[in-house]
Amino acid sequence: MESQQLLQIANDFGAPVYVYDAQKIESQYHRLTNAFSKVEKLQINYAVKALSNISILKLFKKLDSGLDTVSIQEVRLGLHAGFSPEKIIYTPNGVSLQEIEEAAALGVQINIDNLSILEQFGAKHPNTPVCIRINPHVMAGGNSNISVGHIDSKFGISIHQLPHILRIVENTNMHINGIHMHTGSDILDIEVFLYAAEILFDTARHFKTLDFIDFGSGFKVPYKKGDIETDVEELGKKLTKRFLAFEKEYGRELTLMFEPGKFLVSEAGYFLAKVNVVKQTTSTVFAGIDTGFNHLIRPMLYGSEHYIENISHPKGKERFYSVVGYICETDTFGTNRRITEIKEGDILSFRNAGAYCFSMSSNYNSRFKPAEVLWNDSKAYLIRQQETFDDLLRNQIEIEL
Ligand SMILES: *Cc1c(COP(=O)(O)O)cnc(C)c1O
Repeated sequence: MESQQLLQIANDFGAPVYVYDAQKIESQYHRLTNAFSKVEKLQINYAVKALSNISILKLFKKLDSGLDTVSIQEVRLGLHAGFSPEKIIYTPNGVSLQEIEEAAALGVQINIDNLSILEQFGAKHPNTPVCIRINPHVMAGGNSNISVGHIDSKFGISIHQLPHILRIVENTNMHINGIHMHTGSDILDIEVFLYAAEILFDTARHFKTLDFIDFGSGFKVPYKKGDIETDVEELGKKLTKRFLAFEKEYGRELTLMFEPGKFLVSEAGYFLAKVNVVKQTTSTVFAGIDTGFNHLIRPMLYGSEHYIENISHPKGKERFYSVVGYICETDTFGTNRRITEIKEGDILSFRNAGAYCFSMSSNYNSRFKPAEVLWNDSKAYLIRQQETFDDLLRNQIEIEL
């Protein structure tokens, strides 16, 4: 989106505000489907937790996407947005058997990631098709907060426990219709990903009734010019070839699934915030903005470096700034950032604010969660209004002591 369009949205709807570019989401979706166009049956399941606004889910429905969900509430949001249960896969980690049964009763695809639940679920519901989440123990990427396929990870059933999985499946006579892995973020080396895929194919050979193989996600997106990103087209070429060969060997038509969050929505999002104060200290110049990690926690939570620009004065002389929020503890969005000269009242725009930004926001410091706007066909649509004081009081029970 153009700075001018973003600035207009900040003027019309106020700041802080999240803005999402619908056409960017569509183009990312099509980039992925095009990369795998030779696969007969491809299903992309958008990972709802990245950005779960109902209007965003409806946009994915229009694209004929499926959904990847991690909680019963996300399942319900998907159904509310109009998805049929068959288009929803439920991939929780460490939830109760009861919640999994609730999801199964809603008709969505169940994906189980531990032996204990697999055994309990299989014994009670042998006829419900189940997908198994495998941990192939492949380390993808360097950030241990978001790498979920390695040896110490709590996610998935270890590939070394395959004999135990097979024993449970045989004893309970349950119906396994899918095999899944999600090795976490940052697939930079396609060979590493393909290696993990081979482990999944090896596992798939042990099950005779599969309908799909789900390769999870982990697509890395660029945060600034020159950043390395997953070469989706190259991955498409190489994995398609392996998948088609495996399908032939397996002797049954299989659906190839992916479940990206970040890849589909990260770059489509902008977070706009107004500068309250510019404070020169002996060591740096602080730009204090009218928001904090209550609205955008990723820089503080795992050091994400969102590109920041001054859209009110994009042509000014560049200076170095530390951009900080208003939360009463360390609340830094970026240090030593080159940004065109900032004046109080300017609007700063944060890039890559589509994934894990609004969905991780909170009311910390008793602030309202911000509004969300969808930019579609050159028009701005409010898709969530800013919270009000009533929202802060809702559900609280005031007692007289
Ligand atoms: C979070 C998550 C995803 C999405 O990961 P991205 O890095 O945003 O693409 C996919 N699958 C599962 C099971 C997840 O938990």
